[in-house]
Amino acid sequence: MALDAGWARRWVAESAAAIAAARDDLTELDRQIGDGDHGANLDRGFRAVVAKLEATPAPDGEAEQVGAVLKLVATTLMSTVGGASGPLYGTAFLRASKAASREALDVSSVVALLEAALEGIEARGHATPGEKTMVDAWQPAVEAAAATGGDDPVAVLRAAADAADAGSTATIPLVATKGRASYLGERSAGHEDPGARSTALLLRAAVSAADA
Ligand code: ADP
Ligand code: MG
Ligand code: MG
Repeated sequence: MALDAGWARRWVAESAAAIAAARDDLTELDRQIGDGDHGANLDRGFRAVVAKLEATPAPDGEAEQVGAVLKLVATTLMSTVGGASGPLYGTAFLRASKAASREALDVSSVVALLEAALEGIEARGHATPGEKTMVDAWQPAVEAAAATGGDDPVAVLRAAADAADAGSTATIPLVATKGRASYLGERSAGHEDPGARSTALLLRAAVSAADA
């Protein structure tokens, strides 16, 4: 399965479906250690992205670039999500779009895409691993992707999604030192970070889109 613009469009659709299905769970996680809006924020954002993409057909007569789809995701998330996660995911997808200005992604460009997304989140939020944020899902995802090797870009994505999943679960015992959850101090321990969980869902959707 080529990781081309068709895949990127399916990634958006799969992400929107996964976020809609998990909306209440994400909201509940954010209710525990935040303000209870993460599910609603992302659901609103990804519905808008789907609508925007449907209204933006692939260009006539030339192959659509993966980065063009991801750029549309970025600008739409930035203008519709709000909160902390809107600018963070917006910057992630914007940087990823620049790393993906090609018709299809090979192994090294999937790694570059994920690295760019993480760098964008770190530049925007100044969080480092272990602060109980979405970085704790993205960082192991990038590490696993870079370590995968081989020549199957979908295998790289799968390794990233698995690592993000484990990274998100591993936020449970952490004490938050960035974002709204940090206001709770020690009481933030014992709950999974909502942004780390949504990251794991988005990366899993990237794999499902490739398997479709
Ligand atoms: P808000 O906190 O403004 O209500 P959301 O609920 O949509 O925004 O998103 C909260 C998530 O954003 C957190 O679970 C965390 O993963 C992420 N987050 C918050 N601040 C930062 C930061 N400085 N760096 C990285 N991620 C962050
Ligand atoms: Mg919130
Ligand atoms: Mg909020």
